Amino acid sequence: VLLAANWKMYGSPSQLAAYCEELLPKLEGGPHQVVLCPPFPLLPQAVMLCAGSELAVGAQNCHWAREGAFTGEVSPYLLAEMGVSWVIIAHSERRKLFGETDDTALARAKAAQEAGLSVIFCVGETLAEREGGETLSVLQRQTAVLAGLDPQKLVIAYEPVWAIGTGHNATPAQVAEAHAFIHERLQELTGQAVPVLYGGSVKPQNAGELLATPGVAGALVGGASLDAGSFFAIIQAAPVAGAKG
Ligand code: PEP
Repeated sequence: VLLAANWKMYGSPSQLAAYCEELLPKLEGGPHQVVLCPPFPLLPQAVMLCAGSELAVGAQNCHWAREGAFTGEVSPYLLAEMGVSWVIIAHSERRKLFGETDDTALARAKAAQEAGLSVIFCVGETLAEREGGETLSVLQRQTAVLAGLDPQKLVIAYEPVWAIGTGHNATPAQVAEAHAFIHERLQELTGQAVPVLYGGSVKPQNAGELLATPGVAGALVGGASLDAGSFFAIIQAAPVAGAKG
């Protein structure tokens, strides 16, 4: 099972140090794959603190070019050289607030994989789309671009936008339906089985049920990942069968 912490624009060097001090000993010898995605400036410290531990480090975005005149952007090659091994692409906040499109998301994901990073690629419908009965057609469109990616370095995160940061998680039935659809799509597009994570208000109280839902290979956790204790409680709720892929 893969559990990824998305810190979004939260955290500081002192918080990261305290977090790793609490979490790393608990993860030792554990059965799951765990990834921490803090803001860019904390990545070097995270790589240093997590070296030799069970916690891998990921970024929350990257650019599609190796280098260039792209003020404010970060190259996936720089991330890879620094020891970062994962990157989140196309988070709904990037799609909604920062103009991410299916095409720019694909370009970032491709470049990230070429640089050697594994990609957590986010998809998911808005509330209006779900209420309009468009969930599966949105997922169809968002996954259509993924055919060109390396399935070995790809994980999909199904994150219904209405469940992110709202405290309203999707029901296991909704999750199972979306995950089954995404699994089938990815099998069709890449010829391989690609793990699908659930994301959207995963908390210690609902993690057991969500992670045991058919088709769920792990979770992408926002709010509840900021506290080492609650993130570890979510990790502990993950079923051990099928651990580490
Ligand atoms: C996320 O940021 O990907 C997320 C799912 O956030 P939250 O867990 O806070 O809903």
